[in-house]
Amino acid sequence: MSDSLQQLTILGATGSIGVSTLDVVARHPDRYAVFALTAHSRWQPLAEQCVLHKPQYAVLSGADEAALLSAELKRLGSMTEVLFGEEALAQVASHSEVDTVMAAIVGAAGLLPTLAAVNSGKKVLLANKEALVMAGGLFTQAVADSGAVLLPIDSEHNAIFQCMPAQHGTLAEAGVRKILLTGSGGPFRQTPLETLKLVTPDQACAHPNWSMGRKISVDSASMMNKGLELVEACWLFNCAPDKIDIVIHPQSIIHSMVEYMDGSMLAQLGNPDMRTPIAHALAWPERIDSGVASLDIVATARLDFEAPDFGRFPCLRLAVEAAKAGQTAPAILNAANEVAVEAFLAERIRFDQIAQIIDGTLEAIPLSEPESLSVVQEIDRRARDVAKLLVDRQA
Ligand code: NDP
Repeated sequence: MSDSLQQLTILGATGSIGVSTLDVVARHPDRYAVFALTAHSRWQPLAEQCVLHKPQYAVLSGADEAALLSAELKRLGSMTEVLFGEEALAQVASHSEVDTVMAAIVGAAGLLPTLAAVNSGKKVLLANKEALVMAGGLFTQAVADSGAVLLPIDSEHNAIFQCMPAQHGTLAEAGVRKILLTGSGGPFRQTPLETLKLVTPDQACAHPNWSMGRKISVDSASMMNKGLELVEACWLFNCAPDKIDIVIHPQSIIHSMVEYMDGSMLAQLGNPDMRTPIAHALAWPERIDSGVASLDIVATARLDFEAPDFGRFPCLRLAVEAAKAGQTAPAILNAANEVAVEAFLAERIRFDQIAQIIDGTLEAIPLSEPESLSVVQEIDRRARDVAKLLVDRQA
């Protein structure tokens, strides 16, 4: 292997972002080598990825799945070494041979390995927005202390990043008046309100423009995703929630906008395909081919915009309130949302009960300063306990 190859660890390799990342990486064997791939339990797709991309390490959460993967890789003649558990995740995220880490585990489980990558000064491509929502202050401080390079993968944040000046402190210093965070409104933007209660997990996961994992698909349907993105944007771009307007843009062609003080508004456009932000962040500050087709602007023809409907999307309202409240409110919101979405996907609660469970959890836990990782983890645990109780009561 040449010294100029960037060594890459992909946390959450078997997920939607992980698979898109490997697609981009495979187009550039002269630039990237895969150092480690990780998954939770789905060892079969991980085995296929290991055969194809030949990482040094593969990591799973449990020992049993790791043994199955190990046996399969031996059978297939793969040299990849199989590890398991939280420590192994942190190890492959912070290994001295690794240059770049794609943080694409879904949910709070991504926090510790992503922080391990940050603390060891890696180039960190952040898809796992929940890590910033839970522990934004600690996370951004760790980036500053370690000199890690943090690049946003979420298409909206990647778009904002592309529309911002290269170096900036506060928005005012960058000459920015406000950020316009766009969202499609998901599959239920126009569903009659009385039928929203009855929607199924499969309907919620059928996003009109994007193909994504099931948790983020439900978050998009409830618009909690836009709320989590609001918190994420405040940390990434060092601003208060009132500097960010949420705008519904059903076509998902503009991925977000930045308005400058002189009245200029910059937007980043492209087909809704996560390989664009992934390729942007992988190669930054250079540009590489992502495999994404050119945007046919003539065929696109029209771009629509509307204000969000907080009555239709109570999860978005709760998230905006949590972003404004600060302290541990976003961490509580995130934990309650993960529990409620899991219960909805398991058909234990209705779609409209997701917001009720989050609201009840936020009311039950007093806010405090998330001053250390252990405080954040304790709040996360307490919020999950409360949310689970509320799910049991509703189910
Ligand atoms: P998926 O559900 O498709 O994939 C999740 C990945 O994380 C899988 O590899 C999964 O392994 C692994 N994983 C799940 N739970 C754990 C755990 N407890 N410990 C270790 N690994 C775990 O998710 P997405 O790819 O859709 O999303 C990943 C992240 O990216 C999320 O934070 C999401 O919000 C964000 N994001 C996603 C976008 C998208 O288009 N999909 C867009 C923007 C942001 P296994 O396969 O074994 O379950």
